[in-house]
Amino acid sequence: MNEIIEKIRQRDPGQNEFYQAVEEVLDTVKPVIERHPEYRQAAILERIIEPERVIMFRVPWMDDQEQVHVNRGFRVEMNSALGPYKGGLRFHPSVNLGIIKFLAFEQVFKNSLTTLSMGGAKGGSDFNPKGKSDNEVMRFCQSFMSELYRHIGPYTDVPAGDIGVGAREIGYLFGMYKKLRNEFTGVLTGKSLNWGGSLIRPEATGYGNVYFAAEMLATREESFEDKKCLVSGSGNVAQFTTEKVLQLGGKVLTLSDSSGYIYDEEGIDEQKLAFVKELKNIRRGRIREYTEKYPGAVYTDADLSLGYNPLWNHKADCALPSATENEINGQDAQNLIDNGITLISEGSNMPSTPDAIRLFIQHKLLYAPGKASNAGGVAVSGLEMAQNSMRLSWPREEVESRLKIIMKSIHKTCIDVSDYYGMSGNYAAGANIAGFVKVVNAMLDQGVV
Ligand code: NDP
Repeated sequence: MNEIIEKIRQRDPGQNEFYQAVEEVLDTVKPVIERHPEYRQAAILERIIEPERVIMFRVPWMDDQEQVHVNRGFRVEMNSALGPYKGGLRFHPSVNLGIIKFLAFEQVFKNSLTTLSMGGAKGGSDFNPKGKSDNEVMRFCQSFMSELYRHIGPYTDVPAGDIGVGAREIGYLFGMYKKLRNEFTGVLTGKSLNWGGSLIRPEATGYGNVYFAAEMLATREESFEDKKCLVSGSGNVAQFTTEKVLQLGGKVLTLSDSSGYIYDEEGIDEQKLAFVKELKNIRRGRIREYTEKYPGAVYTDADLSLGYNPLWNHKADCALPSATENEINGQDAQNLIDNGITLISEGSNMPSTPDAIRLFIQHKLLYAPGKASNAGGVAVSGLEMAQNSMRLSWPREEVESRLKIIMKSIHKTCIDVSDYYGMSGNYAAGANIAGFVKVVNAMLDQGVV
């Protein structure tokens, strides 16, 4: 395993997030590799960390002042052993090949856990939609799709949203795909409701994460009733995480964006959440404006020089990170523990650093890795694909009940597999091993391809 990690470091320099994701998985699947010499013979580890295909392309676009800009587009098609490639598109200035590879790698195991038939991929661009007009975003999306359309399709690769890619961007991307291909197919998920989207898709990642967390609490005969929760981010995942926590009787004290965070001791109720949705989804404003509307709350600017995030340094019961990768470091994890947190359920992808994860496991906290707890988003994307294929739309109750069943099933899988491998209570090991075994067995069945 060390040789493999060393090899990717040499071959793919500078892809730190990718090494981190690979090391985390390889570390926990050691007992499986030891029991299955055939995996070694088939070079399964070497194959699973190598994308089946990497597409990188130029995305030129013109701003409202007729100035031309050039961004870089990516699609990493990581593994198709279980089905067509599936995974979101991220538009954020931090996007680079290493970040997209880490996300695609995680996606393979996550999709495997959902019980649906989906391979893993991820894509995006270093384009920053913040501060751009709708027309600029549209021109960018059209240029991006004018290359991507060659590589995707309902039986090949079905992208969705992620950071910076919501309903608006999916609409522009779909419009361009339809024009270029002259076909109306379920090639993207996260579509608007009246042209092929699924009910509950916007809610799915946040709701799914809270369902998963509720299952974890139930193992200790607890529930969200009266639990105080710290949530980071204020985008899609954070909003619907907050909504479901409220529905289950809990209280959310914090939300953030990349500029800073708000702490509302009274709790963010339905009315305040409606304000946040309008602020973020329609006005595209900053979270600090929350304190102008609700002066009882306190806003704190982000300060990277601190070495920790004060959002994670409040007394509470649960932490539901919902912003971005590596947002909880070792110091944050210690602060969470010192403040009495007993549950961490990841809405964002890889929000906890390896040091943080080590502390959570050492202190026997209920810790859910994102590839299990945030799989509700891609699961409902899979349900959107099923509805598109049947040309039907299921009612809200049906989709939500299927989401709940899937999250329950992922939770049970994590428990059963971690018990079987003698690591009871270690959801990270359970998720990695269960996701891994299903994918590698499919790879073995399909030969050396
Ligand atoms: P959104 O773009 O809707 O929201 C992202 C939020 O996180 C914003 O509040 C944003 O603040 C904040 N954020 C982003 N980057 C940073 C950063 N570097 N530092 C601090 N804050 C940051 O994205 P989503 O809610 O869709 O995604 C959030 C996380 O959940 C991501 O890790 C994503 O991969 C993961 N995820 C999303 C799924 C989905 O269905 N949408 C499915 C599974 C996982 P700002 O506006 O200032 O940038």
